[in-house]
Amino acid sequence: MRLLLALLVLAAAPPRARAASHWCYQIQLKPSNYTCLGPGEWEGSCQSNRQSPVNIVTAKTQLDPNLGRFSFSGYDRKHQWVVENNGHTVMVLLGDEVSIAGGGLSTRYRAKQLHLHWSRAMDQGSEHTFNGERFAMEMHIVHEKEKAPSSNVNEDDIAVLAFMVEAGSNNVNFQPLVEALSDIPRPNMNTTMKSSISLFHLLPEEESLRHYFRYLGSLTTPTCDEKVVWTVFQEPIQLHRDQILAFSQKLFYDHEQSMNMTDNVRPVQSLGQRQVFRSRAPGPLLSQPTLLAPALACLTVGFLR
Ligand SMILES: [Zn+2]
Repeated sequence: MRLLLALLVLAAAPPRARAASHWCYQIQLKPSNYTCLGPGEWEGSCQSNRQSPVNIVTAKTQLDPNLGRFSFSGYDRKHQWVVENNGHTVMVLLGDEVSIAGGGLSTRYRAKQLHLHWSRAMDQGSEHTFNGERFAMEMHIVHEKEKAPSSNVNEDDIAVLAFMVEAGSNNVNFQPLVEALSDIPRPNMNTTMKSSISLFHLLPEEESLRHYFRYLGSLTTPTCDEKVVWTVFQEPIQLHRDQILAFSQKLFYDHEQSMNMTDNVRPVQSLGQRQVFRSRAPGPLLSQPTLLAPALACLTVGFLR
């Protein structure tokens, strides 16, 4: 009898233990019958206090003159990238030939992958918010610090470049990525883009990339490691509404294709004692090197006199 009881208890127990390690977004909780861990229960560092994303209150950001322009290397290289549905997002694998330096970063960082977060609602799909406002999507280009493997873990081991996406005119540059979505509806599927694009093709105009926000935070998915130096660019990418909706329509969270992949967005986390910085304001004179040289010359002459 006792054995039978024990067996009954075992049989009746929800598959919690098995599924406990599997995290999901809020929107997946109910359809999954609460067998996955929603954002409130994410493990690792996820319940710590230097987390991402955050709301950026632009009036409270502090100007940091060290936040200069980035130097993008390999961002102009055209390639037919591999695109993957990893069950949480769509990821573009970036190989080993793309890197960034400058932008107030301490060293060079190598790009690993880019992925996006989105919603069907045009004001619900970004992870970071500007003054409480959410965008249609957010794109993250994830870079890793070049360093000896033996070095310690640092708060800036990973550099993520974050771009907001808003609904606007059709963006032909994004089409190879948008079209690839149809080939990878289910988790663990991957495909190759049908035509080649460069990373610059996906970004806003290069001139706008000197305007950005900077703070230290975490990965926005478990285990939410607090080792990310965040760069959130001010200028959004524009995609047509239909291009944005394609992500929610073509991709699924599950193998049965019963849960559309959408609202893969972590709630905003408390900023706490952290400060968000902004890149140097472009003075109309100082932003132009051609004008800067004579200006410096005048200053030098002034000093010499
Ligand atoms: Zn992300």
